[in-house]
Amino acid sequence: MMTTSFYKENFVAVCEKSNRIALIAHTNPDGDAIGSSLGLLRFLRNQYPDKMIRSFVPNYPPNSLKFIDQKRDVEIYINQIGETNAFIAAADMLIFLDFNQIHRLDSLSDAINMNMHATKVLIDHHIDPPEKFDITHHNTESSSTALLVYTLIEQVAGVEAITKEIAEPLYLGMMTDTGCFSFSHLSGQLFHAIATLIDAGVDPVAINRAVYSTQRESRVRLHSYLISENMKIIANKGAAIITLTQEEKDRFDFQTGDSEGVVNIPLGIQGIVFSAILIENKDGSIKLSLRSQDVIDVNELSNIHFNGGGHKNAAGGKLNTTMDEAVKVVEEVIQSFK
Ligand code: 5GP
Ligand code: MN
Repeated sequence: MMTTSFYKENFVAVCEKSNRIALIAHTNPDGDAIGSSLGLLRFLRNQYPDKMIRSFVPNYPPNSLKFIDQKRDVEIYINQIGETNAFIAAADMLIFLDFNQIHRLDSLSDAINMNMHATKVLIDHHIDPPEKFDITHHNTESSSTALLVYTLIEQVAGVEAITKEIAEPLYLGMMTDTGCFSFSHLSGQLFHAIATLIDAGVDPVAINRAVYSTQRESRVRLHSYLISENMKIIANKGAAIITLTQEEKDRFDFQTGDSEGVVNIPLGIQGIVFSAILIENKDGSIKLSLRSQDVIDVNELSNIHFNGGGHKNAAGGKLNTTMDEAVKVVEEVIQSFK
């Protein structure tokens, strides 16, 4: 297998010699996974109209992101497993976006591991040590994968190639992964990119409203309930824990993405620098989301204790225990804080 490091010439050369190209983003796709995929997909289809270029995610994104992809150009693996496996098995080029460990794709990873001939490209900003890829565009200082796709397009074809249809999903990724431009890695480069996307026709207010002002009433009630009833504060450690059981999900008509954002709320309390939400999955396992401010490295904590990872101040993980046991594990980790 050819091993090359980025950039432009290698990427373009591989695109040109590939007839089937598959873009693949992570399980439980968020605004950055969908936005970076759709932006790159539309760009590549414009550049190479005669090639077969498709984009996949393992399962459904939240409803709040449907507006950006009305035609479902980003295809959902669980809807069409056999057909997607066949396309991926025959692909000449696989481009992975917004994650860097193939096993995070769950059942989709088998098809990828079996394709030994495709050139594998990584575009990602997560901290986990990336697996070996043929071409790597990986920068943990980048606030989103969408920004990395933006710089890729800038280098490959110039920003003039960014149409409104490409700019909108890239903006979505940049906006959601920075928490509406409030988290870390807010670089001048990011805001230059935003300016270019707005000049290309993006309406930032419309995209913000489409994502954040179209919630179901049950979702808003769930958020209030989780904060008022299920948030435990451990004040002397600056920490908060929130739980959400399957029974509570049923009660609030839970849909994918409904818990998104809850974990950030405790960080709004003065003195709280660590927040965790523990969510019971249908199979009984516990999905964790971790957020922190400043020095607490939740990527490292998740690597060590929660079988996961992510970024220094935003990470996720999974425990195959009961909710009570998972809470105990998180409480023990919190007690170890200085
Ligand atoms: P969230 O808490 O919103 O699910 O994820 C926060 C960040 O951590 C995201 O960048 C996400 O990709 C990453 N992340 C979430 N779950 C996992 C996991 O199980 N393993 C790894 N390596 N990263 C994760
Ligand atoms: Mn991302």
